[in-house]
Amino acid sequence: MVRLIRPEGRLIRAARYIDPRGEAFADVLLDPADGRVLTYAPPQRNVLDLGPLTLLPGMVDAHVHLALPPPRLGDDPVGVMAGRLVACLDHGLVAVRDGGDRLGATLRLKKRGGVPRLLACGPALHPPGSYGSFLGPASRIDAIAGQIAGLADAGADHVKFLVTGPVNLESPMMIDPPHFSAAALERLTTEAHRRGLKVMAHANGVTGVRLALDAGVDSLEHGYGMDEDTLALLAAGRTVWVPTLVPMAALRDAGPTSSRKAAATLLARQMEAVRRAGERGVNVAVGTDAGAPGVVHGASYLRELLLLREAGLPPEALVRAAAGESVLGPYGTGGRPWTFVAVSGNPLADTGSLGRVEAIIV
Ligand SMILES: [Zn+2]
Repeated sequence: MVRLIRPEGRLIRAARYIDPRGEAFADVLLDPADGRVLTYAPPQRNVLDLGPLTLLPGMVDAHVHLALPPPRLGDDPVGVMAGRLVACLDHGLVAVRDGGDRLGATLRLKKRGGVPRLLACGPALHPPGSYGSFLGPASRIDAIAGQIAGLADAGADHVKFLVTGPVNLESPMMIDPPHFSAAALERLTTEAHRRGLKVMAHANGVTGVRLALDAGVDSLEHGYGMDEDTLALLAAGRTVWVPTLVPMAALRDAGPTSSRKAAATLLARQMEAVRRAGERGVNVAVGTDAGAPGVVHGASYLRELLLLREAGLPPEALVRAAAGESVLGPYGTGGRPWTFVAVSGNPLADTGSLGRVEAIIV
């Protein structure tokens, strides 16, 4: 169990601090109320001394499914999901963004508040006959605008569109045609934005990813199978990319024997795309797809970080991606409070230290 610390007016001293932009400070005194690094301790302020630990922004998992795997019959779904949130907290996560649950139970759980903060969308949206009924019941395209209004009223933070199916492990270059026309996706994205909701778009393959980017979605989830032109389009816009490497690594290492080779190829290509995206300055967020086969809430987060690092994302960019400003907005603005984790070791030299969370400061 990590310690949950409320500073209650105290300043924090730590051997090292890495700010949300990845900049490092040694032997630091910090005001947790506004993230300011101080040069001296005002005499009237108490100081919480974290000794040799490194302080960094609280981390965010930008893509989870709290409702997966489905709770057993008789279990309270909200209780099961609350337990998964606690597991996320134990791994240094101060917020998670859910990618859809069929019953909309995340919208009920969200109302409980607390840490980690839950950003919820309820059921994922997609037309009949398309992939994803385990994430939300299908609706006719002309009914989806009404669903968006209902989700906004129910307190959703974003909507999730299933723009394409998953990658096809039998034939990795084959991805089903998009589920939405360009005009429909653009109209629905505009409708979500009009209601103050962000748009999280699941899309794979060049055609589906282009469709999502052209529609102006806020985040691209997965994005397997992009080519150089699509990456350039991503870099030129403001859409955040959540590459979700860990589910493919889980399939490669422990999936059905028939899928492992294709998973290895797809993962290698996706990691190469992450490297190129890093060079192009694409805004990457860290998302695990926790709840997918072999991906565990909280515990798999470090694995995603290690894979992003192995792909070639620089350590500073990794801390920035984990801090999740692209998902939650900048620290200290728009109601986003400063939160921190304290880890042992130096994350800029050793990504593994991001898994050695000693305390969370909220
Ligand atoms: Zn997902």
